[in-house]
Amino acid sequence: MEKRLNQKIAIITGAGRGIGRATAEKFITEGAIVILAEFDEKSGQDSADALGDNAHFIQVDVSQESSVKAMFASIKKQFGRVDILVNNAGILMDSTLAKMELEQFEKVINVNLKGVYLCTRFAAKLMKEQQSGVILNASSVVAHYGNFGQTNYVATKTGVIGMTKVWARELAKDGIRVNAVAPGFIKTEMTAGMPEKIISMMGEKVPLKRWGESVDIANAYCFLASDEASYINGHTLNVDGGVVV
Ligand code: NAP
Repeated sequence: MEKRLNQKIAIITGAGRGIGRATAEKFITEGAIVILAEFDEKSGQDSADALGDNAHFIQVDVSQESSVKAMFASIKKQFGRVDILVNNAGILMDSTLAKMELEQFEKVINVNLKGVYLCTRFAAKLMKEQQSGVILNASSVVAHYGNFGQTNYVATKTGVIGMTKVWARELAKDGIRVNAVAPGFIKTEMTAGMPEKIISMMGEKVPLKRWGESVDIANAYCFLASDEASYINGHTLNVDGGVVV
């Protein structure tokens, strides 16, 4: 059987660990050539080494236009095209509104929202030349119901859903589909620092009674990136064990 992402060139931001790395692994299994676009050199290079010949690390800070521009120039030179972009890189810097400093607000906006805008802008240019492509954005279930202490993070994850809808309309005429995934509670380093009591309390809130694994999100990205999803555009897929219900 033909692999679902055979010979596709895929960029995954923040792929050094967590959901990004699991997605890189899944895409490679399905035949893709994956560029792990990661800020942290060690995790990016180590992950690329571990994932084999079809994994390539490139250092990038998605919040810096010059860095994103250089990355796309280098990818165009080396690979000639981009078929899939997964805007996965994201950070948390939580505190209540009363304690949230402007710098803290802006840092999260810069990575989670500006970073998605920048990468999509450069990717869309290449995809337009090809008249094909898939862009997938990382939102979160908190975009649907808000979350205590996450003014900055929720603003970005809600914004990502909005941008997904705009780009789905704007880019469709060039053969580019744009969708988002809204993960629920997924076990990664991002969530590992939480107290055990909170982790188990949150798990209890999920109708499926468990936290998700990175591979649960990777599977959703893979489906949305594949031709099986060729009529899905502008959608945000919740992958959350039913927690939003
Ligand atoms: P993670 O384990 O913290 O991994 C995020 C990755 O992004 C890290 O490798 C990080 O590198 C990288 N990164 C951070 N800033 C970057 C930048 N400026 N440029 C390039 N790469 C950067 O996170 P995760 O849990 O896998 O989450 C992945 C995505 O899913 C995020 O967008 C997150 O908001 C979203 N999400 C996660 C959950 C969850 O429960 N885990 C739920 C909903 C949504 P460093 O090592 O340098 O930090």
